[in-house]
Amino acid sequence: MPTTLGTAKATAGRLSYGTYDLLHHPTGGIEQLPVMIAQGDRRGPTFWLTAGIHGNEHAGLQVLHLLLTRELARRLHGTIICIPALNPAGLRTMKREAYYHHGDPNRLFPDGFDPDLDHPSVLEQAYTRLFEEVRSTADFWIDLHNTWTGSLSMIYRDRVYYRDDGSPAANKAARLEAEKLDARIGEMCRAYGHSVLNEMGCEAYLHDKLHRSTTGAAVNVARIPALTMELGTGHMPDPHIVGACLAGLKNVLRWAGMVEGEHEAITGIKVVDLGYPCRRRGTPRLTVPGVVRHFVDAGDIVKKGDAIAELRDIWGRPVGEKILRSEYDGWIMGRTHGIVRYPGAEICGMGVRDDLPTMLPYPRSYFKG
Ligand SMILES: [Zn+2]
Repeated sequence: MPTTLGTAKATAGRLSYGTYDLLHHPTGGIEQLPVMIAQGDRRGPTFWLTAGIHGNEHAGLQVLHLLLTRELARRLHGTIICIPALNPAGLRTMKREAYYHHGDPNRLFPDGFDPDLDHPSVLEQAYTRLFEEVRSTADFWIDLHNTWTGSLSMIYRDRVYYRDDGSPAANKAARLEAEKLDARIGEMCRAYGHSVLNEMGCEAYLHDKLHRSTTGAAVNVARIPALTMELGTGHMPDPHIVGACLAGLKNVLRWAGMVEGEHEAITGIKVVDLGYPCRRRGTPRLTVPGVVRHFVDAGDIVKKGDAIAELRDIWGRPVGEKILRSEYDGWIMGRTHGIVRYPGAEICGMGVRDDLPTMLPYPRSYFKG
């Protein structure tokens, strides 16, 4: 199974190291991504594992360092291609973005149809090249992220889009293909075993360019089962979440037939399952400026009308609606960063009931650009 990425060359039964040239600096030198390839003696799928596309999200690095061992390579069926630092510039400066691309680095992957008029930045061009490596080798992809300080460990599940603007036979085939992919993604979620959130509803998903995230593009362009894992606090990883992610990833590798052994219990973290699917939403929002004191924490289950936080002015006097109440039944993903906030700010992330299907046709306007 000859597999290479950059200078890293897979060797059966071994863990190999190397680098992938991302871009050339104008000051000389090259921005390189670290690459690890673990390959077993036995045949099996190729699984991509990545982290650090947001430079202030550091938990994934620790997880991948613990997972990718010589011992794992020896007993692996197939190959793991791992890039633990997709955005080295951001990781060095502990900033979400790379200084050579203004904007979210996790919205630069191809959408198969790009109506953007802007000339792609050097980073977008580099990620487009990297994406072709993923597309030609990956059977699965998991990308590791963090949300807010103290937020819950969660899965973000991308929706699967399909075209239904062709002939009836073509539409039926596209739907069946999407159903199959969506079912595989659902199985991966269950194997990982942490709380699951569906990505935002249709228009918000495309509007926010989430289909151009790592896993959004994997699912919707390359048709590779892929998931984004959110691992709580980014700047100082929570050891419980790191441990639970490690166990979850091993469970996914077992599900994929790449590692033998029993499913491991997920311990040390809260796992929320309300018995119905949920999607993520920023809520409640402030209608007046103020200072927020939350009453809830990550993993709490709340009902519509429950008190979420109190709101005071800078002198400490109750202001506006005084008590912010939940607009929904659901669960708290975490408290968004900051307590001194302007109107419109969302003070929590919540999982709220999701009645939309996890696979759905592209909006008719989408391919008109
Ligand atoms: Zn992130």
